[in-house]
Amino acid sequence: MKAGIIGAGYVGLVTAACFASRGLDIMVHDTSKEKIATLNAGGLPIFEPGLEKLLTGHTISFTNCVKELVETCRYIFLCVGTPQGADGEADLSYLQSAVEAICHYTEADKYIIIKSTVPPGTARRMEELSRSLNKNCKLTFISNPEFLRQGSAVHDFLYPDRIIVGSDKPLSGEEVLSLYEKWDCPKLLMSRESAELAKYAANSFLAMKISYSNMIASLADRAGASIDDIQAAIGSDSRIGKDFLKAGAGFGGSCFPKDLNAMLHIGRKHGTELPLIENTLALNENQPAAVVSKIKAALKELTDKRIAILGLSFKPMTDDVRCSPAVSVAEHLLNEGAKVILYDPLVRHNPVHRAAKGASLKESLKQSDAAVIMTDWPEFRQLLQPDMLNTLKRKIIIDGRNMFRIEEIEMLSKEVSMYYASIGRPLHD
Ligand code: NAD
Repeated sequence: MKAGIIGAGYVGLVTAACFASRGLDIMVHDTSKEKIATLNAGGLPIFEPGLEKLLTGHTISFTNCVKELVETCRYIFLCVGTPQGADGEADLSYLQSAVEAICHYTEADKYIIIKSTVPPGTARRMEELSRSLNKNCKLTFISNPEFLRQGSAVHDFLYPDRIIVGSDKPLSGEEVLSLYEKWDCPKLLMSRESAELAKYAANSFLAMKISYSNMIASLADRAGASIDDIQAAIGSDSRIGKDFLKAGAGFGGSCFPKDLNAMLHIGRKHGTELPLIENTLALNENQPAAVVSKIKAALKELTDKRIAILGLSFKPMTDDVRCSPAVSVAEHLLNEGAKVILYDPLVRHNPVHRAAKGASLKESLKQSDAAVIMTDWPEFRQLLQPDMLNTLKRKIIIDGRNMFRIEEIEMLSKEVSMYYASIGRPLHD
């Protein structure tokens, strides 16, 4: 069975590789000539653990020609970007141009399955658009929001907590669900609007848990409590759950910030206030400044201080720096006159032009007045080795990801005199 994927990004390539691994014949289209050339040459335009193995182990064709895909595939998954547009609204222009291209090449009975994150009513509107562009168009639009996380996307796709399919006709929904017959998880069929809004509601809730923890962490800092203990205490309550309660420098990435802003826009459009989401974003936007104030408390004066930012991606196991708090912290420090050196084990480019890029962890620590952990990459555990720590000019670590256990730091402090601050975890007396 031939299924087509439009958009060869994180979602599209993972969808392609995982469906191919479950026996579907897959064709992938992207408008980017560079991406398709890389894929056809056996390369990967993005990093995602396990993706390369899955892609090379199965036959998947890659094309810049949308006509070829539309003519051969009955099921077409739309995995194009829906970035943040003006006023927070989801920009649907990539989705719309993909739909226009599909309508141009077919009048056959096909399924257009929207995996991109889109506001409620989008599948319905795209179906109307397809009919207005071509009155013979028989495309059926389905919502099938994607819940994978970058860094564990292949595993998340193969073993999801649930699969959601939104359709206005139960039989069409069932047919699309049958593509997932090899998936053993709850499968929920609902209206297209419910499926579309469920995706935003899920991301908003997860982001809200993070901001909630960060809010409690800033109180813990002042009240002499530990957010680690509080997280264990509240997370062991099954009604709350332990995930997404880790305090730190805040959330980033291509999804949470843009999806929460889109959610606020959806609320405004429907005359509904969403104060929890407003405050989730406001708390998060303040987290980089909270990290900077911890750096200032350690260094007193930032002018001409050399500060190593460790980690650029918004979380480990990805090379994605979109909306990364590390970039905000670096910009803050540069604006206050500090010299910033950036190091990340995976991110190759420099997203902060005024900063320098370190070739290795050791190189970046040399001559630095402080190290600021912004992504909890395992490599940074080397800072717990006295030799590595001694590479710093001043042994100051600001742990923006609560990467180290307080006990580990207390042990290390017995060997090397150091300054350590993290988020919501005062050191014991
Ligand atoms: P991405 O930016 O990595 O990839 C999008 C791809 O679509 C790009 O390669 C781009 O060239 C291509 N494209 C754009 N317009 C096109 C067109 N008209 N025809 C063909 N190709 C086109 O985006 P992503 O991170 O994969 O996200 C895609 C969607 O999935 C977004 O709506 C996002 O919110 C949602 N989503 C993302 C994640 C995630 O973790 N990245 C998780 C769940 C859902």
